[in-house]
Amino acid sequence: MPEQTSSVTMNATPAPERQQSVLLIDPAPEVHRMLSMRLREDDIALVAAMTGEEGLELAESHQPSAIILELHLPRMSGFDLLRRLKSNPATMHAPVIMLTASEKAEDKVRAFELGATDYVCKPFNMSELRARIGGAMRIRRLLHLLEQRAQIDGMTGLWNRAYFNDKLAAEIAHMQRTGEPLALAICDLDKFKHLNDTLGHPFGDVVIQGFAQLLLRQLRSYDVACRYGGEEFALILPSATLEEAFAACDRIRRTLEARTWPGQPDLVVTASFGLADCGLDSMTNPASWIEAADRSLYSAKESGRNRVHVFDARLGAGREMKRMAA
Ligand code: GH3
Ligand code: MG
Ligand code: MG
Repeated sequence: MPEQTSSVTMNATPAPERQQSVLLIDPAPEVHRMLSMRLREDDIALVAAMTGEEGLELAESHQPSAIILELHLPRMSGFDLLRRLKSNPATMHAPVIMLTASEKAEDKVRAFELGATDYVCKPFNMSELRARIGGAMRIRRLLHLLEQRAQIDGMTGLWNRAYFNDKLAAEIAHMQRTGEPLALAICDLDKFKHLNDTLGHPFGDVVIQGFAQLLLRQLRSYDVACRYGGEEFALILPSATLEEAFAACDRIRRTLEARTWPGQPDLVVTASFGLADCGLDSMTNPASWIEAADRSLYSAKESGRNRVHVFDARLGAGREMKRMAA
């Protein structure tokens, strides 16, 4: 698991750090042998590429924690390769350490200008190279952590709205590629202003945090729960049909309704849910999905709250909501 900002367990966090790996792009077999032996002692896997083309491919498929790149490669200059690595979103974040016999200042300057993290001259001292690899990986981990923190809601530990926007767009693109179902729900705590007014804002915060924890417990590991606004939450449910998403939301609704709250034995907190699935061809952009889920939520509120309403794609232009709740 990535580092957490709160005690709440994150769901569907970005891929946790797997075993650390270093991609070595160097035509010299003896460098591979040496590095592989020493990195093994640090529990770092070595991914080996002898050519630039191979290196590019492996950088994308393996997502290594760091890349060591020889400047002189067959058919391709290390600088060209570095430029390509740094302009590809899939590989641009991996720190690159240049490893080369060239001690020319202009080569060093060029490497740093193109985005290299470090520059080590051959023949190199193994302990120094290991230390430099360690430093590059530490910076990468910190950047990764910063990226994540910028996407997490501080109060609940859920993903924030910025992450939700990115993730929904990515999931819609995935759905279009694979044809897998996808559902989006927006839920909002009922009569929350009244709860704040009667029990106080700090208690309102406790309820928001409690609901966030309930969401995380009820959802699958690859579902994504976001705090969309004050007491409003968005759930992205990959691979869920409308019926499955409805069942998940209704289970959350019932669990919340049954939950007791500290010092308030008689308090019942409820939420309303609006659900939209991928049934409509026209639903190809995030805004139309959010609008559909929002309209369902509005309809759930209008018809009495504490229920799940669905945007029914089959009713097409009518844009009717159909209540599926018992
Ligand atoms: P409805 O059932 O229609 O959703 O009624 P509501 O009272 O929940 O509606 P509304 O969305 O108008 O009110 C939301 C309230 O939630 C108002 C706002 O003060 C409160 N709120 C928003 N963010 C927070 C928060 O972080 N903590 C607390 N305690 N309250 C918050
Ligand atoms: Mg509300
Ligand atoms: Mg609200």
